[in-house]
Amino acid sequence: MSRDLNLLSANFKPKVELFLAEAKKQGLDIFITETGRTKERQQELYNQGRTTPGRIVTWTLNSKHLIPSEAFDIAFNKPTLYPKDMNLWNKLIEIAKSFGIDNGFTLWGKDIVHFQDNGEIPDEELLKSYVMTPEQQQALQTIEFACKNLYNIAELQGGNKELQEFAGSTAAKSRELNT
Ligand SMILES: [Zn+2]
Repeated sequence: MSRDLNLLSANFKPKVELFLAEAKKQGLDIFITETGRTKERQQELYNQGRTTPGRIVTWTLNSKHLIPSEAFDIAFNKPTLYPKDMNLWNKLIEIAKSFGIDNGFTLWGKDIVHFQDNGEIPDEELLKSYVMTPEQQQALQTIEFACKNLYNIAELQGGNKELQEFAGSTAAKSRELNT
């Protein structure tokens, strides 16, 4: 069983990373329990409850978990692995949806721990509002501050127009990203 994000498809991996960052930011303490599966692993899971002991955990051999995976499963670190509080799950499902990720429960009425790519690309404006962490905001403020200093130094040294323009436009860009 692998939790390696590199087993996710190239398109899906960045969405999952954004989803995890946003969930964390909103106070949902989750972790990935499984990403990609080999054919052998999927067969093993499929056999469970059918030809080998245990309860049935999958109903397909053609799973989205097959590498390159377009699916992952999660659990919570707290309050418990699989909380009874549906508010927590609903919050998580909503965040996932905004990044173009569907939930198993929404799709099939079961498998609430399962999330999969729905092929949609997240809205750019939404991404901007979602993904900036306090550290990133701080970094942009630092850039803006450095640009202002650069502008002033250029001014003191007799006014290098090219450098001042660069400093000005870079500061403006980081300010724009940060709002
Ligand atoms: Zn799954």
